[in-house]
Amino acid sequence: MPFNDPEQEAWVDNARAVATIDAAMMLGFAPIKGANIKDKSGACPACGGTDRFSVVVSGTKTNVFNCRGCGIKGGDGIGLVMAVQKTDFIKACEFLVGAPPKGSNLSEADKHAWREQQEILKRERAESEALRLKQVEIDAAQKRGWAKDMWARGVGWQKSTVEHYLRHRGVIPQSYTSNDVAGLLIDNLRCAKAMPYQFDGGVIGTSDVMLGQIQNARGEFIGVHRTWMSDFNDNCDVPKNGRPEWNHPENGRRLETKRMLGDKIGGAIRLVRGGVDSDTGKIKPPKDLYLGEGNETTLSVYVPFRLIKPELIENAAFWSGLDLGNLSTTIFPASVETVILLGDGDSDEEKTIQKLKKSADNALQQGKRVKIAFSPKTTDFNDILRRVREAA
Ligand SMILES: [Zn+2]
Repeated sequence: MPFNDPEQEAWVDNARAVATIDAAMMLGFAPIKGANIKDKSGACPACGGTDRFSVVVSGTKTNVFNCRGCGIKGGDGIGLVMAVQKTDFIKACEFLVGAPPKGSNLSEADKHAWREQQEILKRERAESEALRLKQVEIDAAQKRGWAKDMWARGVGWQKSTVEHYLRHRGVIPQSYTSNDVAGLLIDNLRCAKAMPYQFDGGVIGTSDVMLGQIQNARGEFIGVHRTWMSDFNDNCDVPKNGRPEWNHPENGRRLETKRMLGDKIGGAIRLVRGGVDSDTGKIKPPKDLYLGEGNETTLSVYVPFRLIKPELIENAAFWSGLDLGNLSTTIFPASVETVILLGDGDSDEEKTIQKLKKSADNALQQGKRVKIAFSPKTTDFNDILRRVREAA
């Protein structure tokens, strides 16, 4: 908003300098304390709720805000005030600065000096922004390093807690011996022993962790997915989902026992890389690619095929895309002709359909045929498999 008036421009700059998180607090936002240091979430200052509103406070998307309820979104404090107070730019600046715009009574010489000073400030801002971006890059590289170390520490998943977990989830049939399990050709999972689960600087609990290697389109390691699992030696009271029940120390909310480390965009866990060529014993480049959200749901579709109709998946790979949003970033191998998207019916239906459409578009743009397999309402593919097993 050019005013051609130093005092007014300075006034707007003061409003621009207010970080989105600070603007949100001025509007009454109170973030929920959580492990996520990049996002602060909580009730929306516009429409309420409990955790639908979030502001990014670090990384390349700093100052971006978004509400899953009323849909307000933007990239700065002024935009947030305009959206919440349904007001115009000037009024929003006035709210943030705490004073109305002033008319200028500066001399020409003062105006000139002011402009020069503004140029210096602008350069300084650009320099500090460049430094910040460099730090973001360094942090990301460090996280990738940690993720790589963690993956390297993992041991083969067979006969480990991961096998117990997949049996408990009904993915591997109880009748299957540990030796049979190797025949399932499930790849890119490992088990890490006794990993602490950290939260807000403290350790909430420790358990064995299922690691999933995340690879980019070129098959390079980019990150690791972690699932903390119950102690299956302690037979009493293993929860249905086979994972520890850890709660937020303050508000008692159940904590998510799955976490990412490193990168995930464009990446996937290649749980099954393809069928085996009976002559060479090598993995064949897949023609069909089943792409699901979680390891458990994707394997819940794969294993029954493998056991009952293996001829249908002779040329198929099964990948976990980690979460629904990430599925729309997947880059598919050239050999793949058909992508089968696996949608879970256990989350918000409308949003799931929207995100699956985005994923379908992504596959279509890469010249693939697309099919969508949706599990029935309020279930995911793992629920279905469990019900079948329980009924048998
Ligand atoms: Zn809202």
